[in-house]
Amino acid sequence: MTTLLIRNATCVATFDDNRTEWRDASVFVRENRIEAIGSTADLPQTADEVIDARGHLVVPGLVNTHHHMYQSLTRAIPAVQDAELFSWLRGLYPIWSGLTPEMVHVSTQVAMAELLLSGCTTSSDHLYIYPNGVRLDDSIDAAREIGMRFVATRGSMSVGASQGGLPPDRVVEREDAILADTQRLIETHHDAAHGAMVNVAVAPCSPFSVSRDLMRESALLARSFKGQGVRLHTHLAENDHDIAYSREKFNCTPTEYAQDLGWLGHDVWHAHCVKLDAAGIALFAKTKTGVAHCPCSNMRLASGIAPIRRMLDAGVPVGLGVDGSASNDGAHMVNEARQALLLARVGRSLEPFGCDHGPSEMTARDALAIATRGGAEVLGRTDIGHLAPGMCADLALFDLNTVAFAGGAVHDPVASLLLCASPQAAYTVVNGRVVVREGQLATVDLGPLVERHNRLAVTLALAAR
Ligand SMILES: [Zn+2]
Repeated sequence: MTTLLIRNATCVATFDDNRTEWRDASVFVRENRIEAIGSTADLPQTADEVIDARGHLVVPGLVNTHHHMYQSLTRAIPAVQDAELFSWLRGLYPIWSGLTPEMVHVSTQVAMAELLLSGCTTSSDHLYIYPNGVRLDDSIDAAREIGMRFVATRGSMSVGASQGGLPPDRVVEREDAILADTQRLIETHHDAAHGAMVNVAVAPCSPFSVSRDLMRESALLARSFKGQGVRLHTHLAENDHDIAYSREKFNCTPTEYAQDLGWLGHDVWHAHCVKLDAAGIALFAKTKTGVAHCPCSNMRLASGIAPIRRMLDAGVPVGLGVDGSASNDGAHMVNEARQALLLARVGRSLEPFGCDHGPSEMTARDALAIATRGGAEVLGRTDIGHLAPGMCADLALFDLNTVAFAGGAVHDPVASLLLCASPQAAYTVVNGRVVVREGQLATVDLGPLVERHNRLAVTLALAAR
């Protein structure tokens, strides 16, 4: 049994049910679980590994609920820098059709490095394009090597342009092959245990790239693994074109489409939901269907402002997603939480009928709660998302003596994390293992990884010309 002591922290913000915040506190970890949190004097004074956390803020590891990590290879592509969702996708599909297993492996690690360095300990990823022998196993291997907790989702596209879908025919798959591979992945990699490092979810890409049959069959497949916590994920109601497609092709709203296909429930989470109407919010709340809110991507693609406060007030589970990487184009989870806070406030100011909350539409602690325990709920995880004895030891430490916190942390270290700037994590601990130490990734050599990633990004772009 190995132990880890995070000692003398200036503040430990647990985000437990009472949002307990300890001052001058320590966290004691045995193996992969938190054993105790409390005043430094009351906790063990030593352990196999001790982190001196004087001058540091400790928060639960942040949880990212929506991402496309392979897109790290196509960030800031000039031709689509200023495009909305559909033309952005049409511009990128031909490039993505050149993806290789090596590219997926390397880009996944780059995306995870960026997340880990921002204090994120668990991430979902939605890989929905499988050309040239790419497999979801490539992402899962990458996560195991770098040490990130991973919810790998088996995405898919089956309706190409010739059938009225958005993607070109050459990047879509046969539906029987999709379902067979999804079943293989669940049986091979999905772990339902407390502290699991890999979950597999079932994730047809979007209403405009898969058939209704595949949506229905996917839901049946996930739910055939009874009691195993196999979840369902897709994109929904992202922008006005998405709504118009739903109206034209299916003659219903995205929520009605989801309901008809069995895609509402506590085991489902949908990305974006920018255009969810009042009836949709009520239905999501009633069925405990989760939402991955992606504020940066929604701003980048001018998709709109998701009604997050209304969702929260109604009881919809809401987590945060950096999305992208090429529609953000960043993967900094603290920054994403900051943008969620800012966007909620500016969204409220645009409301035609009065202003219920004003600037308190979303507080810093609200946004951090969404980024931690909200994300855990959306991913169906009861073992992560807040700090308490028995929970997985997933934590992030931020150095309050840096310029990012100057003049802020002395008043409120927790709110400063979002209100002042978007600092890098000093330490990131995943499942009891120190993955970021003194601001540096400890599991993978980042310099050569980025160099290799950049070479592959150029190769991929050139191949599409
Ligand atoms: Zn997405």
